[in-house]
Amino acid sequence: MPTSSVFKARRIARADLTGWLSDHAVIVTDGRIEAVLPAAKLPSDVAKTRQVFDLGDVSLLPGLVDVHSHMHCSATADSYHLVTTESVSQLLLRASGNVRKVLLSGVTTLRDLGSRNEVAFPLRDAVRSGVVPGPRLLLAGTPITTTAGHCYMFGTEADTVEQVITAVRHQKKLGADCIKIMATGGMFTPTANPRSVQYPASTLKAATQEAERLGMQIAAHTLSSQGVRNCAEAGIHHLIHARWLHHDARKGLDYDPAVSERLAKNGQVVDVTFGHMLIGAEREKAGGEPHKLHWSVAVTPVTNEDHIKVTRDMREKGVKFITGLDMGMSTAPFDHSAYNAKSFVEYLDYSTWEAIRASTVDSARALGLGDVTGALRPGLSADLMSVRGDPAQDITALLNAVDVVLEGKPVKLGGRPLV
Ligand SMILES: [Zn+2]
Repeated sequence: MPTSSVFKARRIARADLTGWLSDHAVIVTDGRIEAVLPAAKLPSDVAKTRQVFDLGDVSLLPGLVDVHSHMHCSATADSYHLVTTESVSQLLLRASGNVRKVLLSGVTTLRDLGSRNEVAFPLRDAVRSGVVPGPRLLLAGTPITTTAGHCYMFGTEADTVEQVITAVRHQKKLGADCIKIMATGGMFTPTANPRSVQYPASTLKAATQEAERLGMQIAAHTLSSQGVRNCAEAGIHHLIHARWLHHDARKGLDYDPAVSERLAKNGQVVDVTFGHMLIGAEREKAGGEPHKLHWSVAVTPVTNEDHIKVTRDMREKGVKFITGLDMGMSTAPFDHSAYNAKSFVEYLDYSTWEAIRASTVDSARALGLGDVTGALRPGLSADLMSVRGDPAQDITALLNAVDVVLEGKPVKLGGRPLV
């Protein structure tokens, strides 16, 4: 039986996400947006044929898209300890709580970039069949990394080109939508140096070609200058972090504007994870424990301002940014995805609407979901989130979702979870 509904709101985002339509309504049939029209034009007996939700004085937007989580990590200071010691059952239980939090915060599409296969794939099945509430999930399954490399404790260790290709194929076989590979070490892993590359460009290129052959995108974690250069050369689709640490621990950054130009020219996009950085900065300012530095950057600390400065230049060179919080890491809680947009405004001089587009339509398109979600226009999935106030005036309004609708089904109304 077709399910038809109407969502009325004081402000509804225009299809191109450049401004508001006032007192409009989104008409939904079978989970898809059928039309967006002035509420005054609804037939007077609309309630006879459709379920009508009058959301009131809220701003209604497309559901957020977050391109980067680790669903079974705890987002606490002891996240490393927990993920290295807990059983698969414990990780699965935590992950199921986490994906519900994600959904209720207004994120209707989430890409997980690295979790144990025994957690990620069964959980996606449970979400799809309605056993566990959660957003639309795209999965990498385990990240591919070197022996003792970044996130090896929940990754697939693969050192040679042959092993990496086999690992890509294995993830495809298990049901992966995309591939995650660790191009450099990372701050989460004591045995992996973020300043050093884990693979030469040729291995990353082989992984990219294999992912493309199998119809998948590939995302690569990279924190060092040489790592970014290798990702550019290998044609990696999405660079994660894209920091520019010098390989020499006595030095700070080693930024190369020519590589940024190359990324922009190739259309390679970056999940800069600045939302994560902003949450950490706000916590420290509020008197929280400062982040414990990885040994590789303890000698010559690099400030947030250093990273922001070069990342602004990346933007000036034309590099496009998408929104991934790195949920699950120590200062990236599962209900804080809107910090991505806030950080783009505060750190990168985005306008509020630019930040909203980055968090919705731009990220949806980068995931290949431009015809599925990311905007309020006919034909797309009815994935909605609303907030009080006007996020175009004050982006922090996005932090508190009041209503959330996934594929036409309300999962939160008036601030009250329904799932
Ligand atoms: Zn991550």
